[in-house]
Amino acid sequence: MLLHAEEDTEKNEEKLEILLEGCHNKEWVSFTTSKEELKKLTCLICHQIAENAIELHCKEHEETEQLLIFGEQCLKKYLEENNGKCPVNQHCDCQYFKNKMLRLQISELVVVCPLQYELTVGNLSKQEKEEHNHTSKEGCETDVIVLNDSSCNYKGKIADIKNHLKSCKLALKQNTKKQFDLMTQQITLLNQQLKQNEERCERLQSELQVEKNQTTLCL
Ligand SMILES: [Zn+2]
Ligand SMILES: [Zn+2]
Ligand SMILES: [Zn+2]
Repeated sequence: MLLHAEEDTEKNEEKLEILLEGCHNKEWVSFTTSKEELKKLTCLICHQIAENAIELHCKEHEETEQLLIFGEQCLKKYLEENNGKCPVNQHCDCQYFKNKMLRLQISELVVVCPLQYELTVGNLSKQEKEEHNHTSKEGCETDVIVLNDSSCNYKGKIADIKNHLKSCKLALKQNTKKQFDLMTQQITLLNQQLKQNEERCERLQSELQVEKNQTTLCL
């Protein structure tokens, strides 16, 4: 049970990082904004909502009507891995600039609390979900706490999410759960030590008894 709880916490943290680093999860954002509206804000590399939007303005694409939008991390990684070749049609000397208008527009998109999103929709595959249900049926208490949690109704701008997570009750609860797991671990350890000490005590007592018997015999 302990192991399972640990894995769960780690997985949640990973998911949260994916959600907050780099381009923004499109499914999460489209919870509150229509996909149609999000089309022009999508990173052409990862197809999520561009974080720190960058627009290409290579002369090769002067005639292209479509905005060529990328998330900053995605584009820089791509250029690094491809010797600076343009991700659109592999020409050299890719030119780009920070699109401040789009950055502002994206940072002002209203989203739901990412932790609540994970709880409601989750990136859990079907199999993982089944495992999850299975565990809670067996009465794993830590899982039940998470599943029955009261929800976070926060809605706010993408720009404010990191701030929200500092005070989000779901984040606090996650920390409490972590502390709870840690305490459970310590208790298990103490119990083990206690048992070892008891065994040692018994051993010493029986040794003492043997010596007592020998002493009696000698006398
Ligand atoms: Zn991207
Ligand atoms: Zn180009
Ligand atoms: Zn929240």
